[in-house]
Amino acid sequence: MSGNRYPPSWYAASAVPLPEQPALRGRIEADVCILGAGYTGLSAALELAEAGYKVVVLEAERIGWGASGRNGGQAIAGFSCGEDKLEALVGFEDARRMFDLSREGLQWLRNRISRHAIDCDWRDGHAQVPIKPRQQLALQAAVEDMHARYDYPVQWWSREQLREQLASDRYLGALYDPNSGHLHPLEYALGLGRAALAAGVVIHEQSRVTSLVRGARPMLKTTNGEVQCDFAVIAGNALLHGIAPELESRMMPVGTYIGATAPLGEARARALIRNDMAVADTNWALDYFRLSRDHRLLFGGRASYSTLPPPNLRGTMTRRMRNVFPQLADVEMEYVWGGNIDISLNRAPHWGALTPNVYFAQGFSGHGVIATGLAGKLIAEAIRGQSERLDLFARIPHAPFPGGRLMRTPMLVAGMAWYKLRDALG
Ligand SMILES: Cc1cc2nc3c(=O)[nH]c(=O)nc-3n(C[C@H](O)[C@H](O)[C@H](O)COP(=O)(O)OP(=O)(O)OC[C@H]3O[C@@H](n4cnc5c(N)ncnc54)[C@H](O)[C@@H]3O)c2cc1C
Repeated sequence: MSGNRYPPSWYAASAVPLPEQPALRGRIEADVCILGAGYTGLSAALELAEAGYKVVVLEAERIGWGASGRNGGQAIAGFSCGEDKLEALVGFEDARRMFDLSREGLQWLRNRISRHAIDCDWRDGHAQVPIKPRQQLALQAAVEDMHARYDYPVQWWSREQLREQLASDRYLGALYDPNSGHLHPLEYALGLGRAALAAGVVIHEQSRVTSLVRGARPMLKTTNGEVQCDFAVIAGNALLHGIAPELESRMMPVGTYIGATAPLGEARARALIRNDMAVADTNWALDYFRLSRDHRLLFGGRASYSTLPPPNLRGTMTRRMRNVFPQLADVEMEYVWGGNIDISLNRAPHWGALTPNVYFAQGFSGHGVIATGLAGKLIAEAIRGQSERLDLFARIPHAPFPGGRLMRTPMLVAGMAWYKLRDALG
């Protein structure tokens, strides 16, 4: 999968790539050096370059090669762990501030798309849909809570209301969020990359960081070069390979997968999701789906805790899609692909500083399209001397995965078996 090409996906097939950026050679200086050209790294880079900093980004592969170029494209306010978990971790007031910041992140994303004219097919609307009565009760309570305590205008849709928009009998209703939405993730990543380059950011592709030397002026080393800087930012997501052990022990890479059908034709596609919203169920091993601009169904789901692609992925994704839409019995997946998400033990964001001049953001836990932009912005603010808002997130406690690097996968697999059982029992 590595090299100068993107892994095959509908996104890679439909996006307009940027010119390749040269690999790092020799020693250079920067105010800020960022590891990783995904949404997190590019957002921080853009903010800092606009503030006058000399920024260098080192990317092991290509801009948007990681999760940012492969994800489900569902841009959802809030965080993976949910508000209840954040309240339990940091109390209501801080949880509310974090949720408000995620709304700011959503606005930031919308502003960047319009300011840089990023052609990434933004569509309004996101529905979380329950399969089990227990999930329905939880979502209905969440709608009330979002209104009463978070001042956030989500709606509850009955089963009949949902059925008017979504041609599936699988769900009991929906928590509908008109502000969240969906986009073409790789086009968005490339758009951020293009804007960063235009703002003066230097991006070196094919430049894997092999070590980070901490100190008064951190140094990031690649096979053929090194960058000495005043500040370093680690935005490498799921696979850091020994760059910062204290981050890696608190993050678990998990593989997750998406399929894209062949084009269905406009009428057939529209009949599936009439209002063109994105949809996700609330199972632990969730299904999520939306339409593409060329009238395909993009259907995501299935996790692999070993990060190895599951056997017969195409068949599995097709079966899952047909569970939701039996009317697609004649439709096959034209593309299937996957990527890694970076799960923290409590699924809450893990952002902060390792040392006074080394910042990081990870633990997006599969819910990063909006949160990554916010993390990048808050890291940029902290580097500029305003760390209060990043410090808010840095207060979230994060324990290492039990079992350490070697045993965390088997232990997580055992833990996940319980959640899957719970999904099945209702
Ligand atoms: C299949 C899938 C579906 C998803 N669906 C959704 C969704 O619908 N909605 C949602 O909100 N979130 C979703 N996510 C999560 C979301 O995509 C991520 O949270 C987000 O893209 C993370 O961005 P990032 O910049 O932190 O990491 P990435 O985009 O992974 O970027 C990290 C970059 O760092 C580079 N890198 C790593 N190590 C090094 C190194 N040593 N040296 C140099 N470069 C390095 C990588 O090559 C990569 O390009 C999904 C993720 C996946 C994989």
